[in-house]
Amino acid sequence: MKLTPVFFPVMNILTSLDALKKYRKTLSNKTIGLVPTMGHLHQGHLSLCQKSQADNDITIVSIFVNPAQFNQKKDFKNYPRTIDEDLKLLKTQKIDAVFLPKIKAMYPDNYQVQVEEIQLSRVLEGRFRPGHVSGMLTIVLKLLNLVQATHAYFGEKDYQQLLLIKKMADAFFIPCKIIPCATLRASDKLALSSRNSRLTPSQRKKALHFPRLLHQKNISTKKITQELTKLGFKVDYVVDKWGRRLAAVCLDGIRLIDNVKSKVR
Ligand code: AMP
Repeated sequence: MKLTPVFFPVMNILTSLDALKKYRKTLSNKTIGLVPTMGHLHQGHLSLCQKSQADNDITIVSIFVNPAQFNQKKDFKNYPRTIDEDLKLLKTQKIDAVFLPKIKAMYPDNYQVQVEEIQLSRVLEGRFRPGHVSGMLTIVLKLLNLVQATHAYFGEKDYQQLLLIKKMADAFFIPCKIIPCATLRASDKLALSSRNSRLTPSQRKKALHFPRLLHQKNISTKKITQELTKLGFKVDYVVDKWGRRLAAVCLDGIRLIDNVKSKVR
């Protein structure tokens, strides 16, 4: 009996800029989707990957915990890092390549050159996390330039981030389509987030008030702020803007952000 060999595609793990550039050279005339992440992957990240795989010939996921976008050293230090599990998950998902650059390689200038946006970045996340927006835009620009993707995928969960990235891509004539992806939620409505794993079971139970109040009809942003504060959240903001209701809170030092489409209220 003749056995037909079965080939499983390998997932390319690219840990240097040179490895990425070499791999990228093999992909001429292909559509390439980039999914930038900071790791500790969950189904929300995978939904971006699936969208990219449906749209493109090749999907590249980057995992890089970007020091420049953390305004607090402690938050950067405590950010969950689970690279082995992440790679397993991406392999199961049949991702073509994962880019895992080193901090030094991404910042040869020692953070001296950064992207600055002077309007959208002054409110909400920008206001509560000084330096975050510039750090985020800078790393996204670096990744877009390095990967030269045709499409890049970003979650609506970070709605202001998505608007800022679109604006940057337009302003700098970046030849990459920025594709928004809907927020994936757990069955209890909490938006999936890498930070959720830091919640204890009782904190998680309390955290559910956050999406519950955001989804509630006929309630003002002021009332939501009052309710959340009464429940023990530290509320950074709850606002109606850009056709969305956007909010950020801290629960025992763990920061949660979310937004929903504005309903007629
Ligand atoms: P992060 O690893 O948190 O930087 O997220 C990487 C990308 O995944 C960003 O574009 C996020 O907006 C997106 N993302 C994170 N959580 C979710 C979610 N629950 N649903 C959809 N996209 C998400």
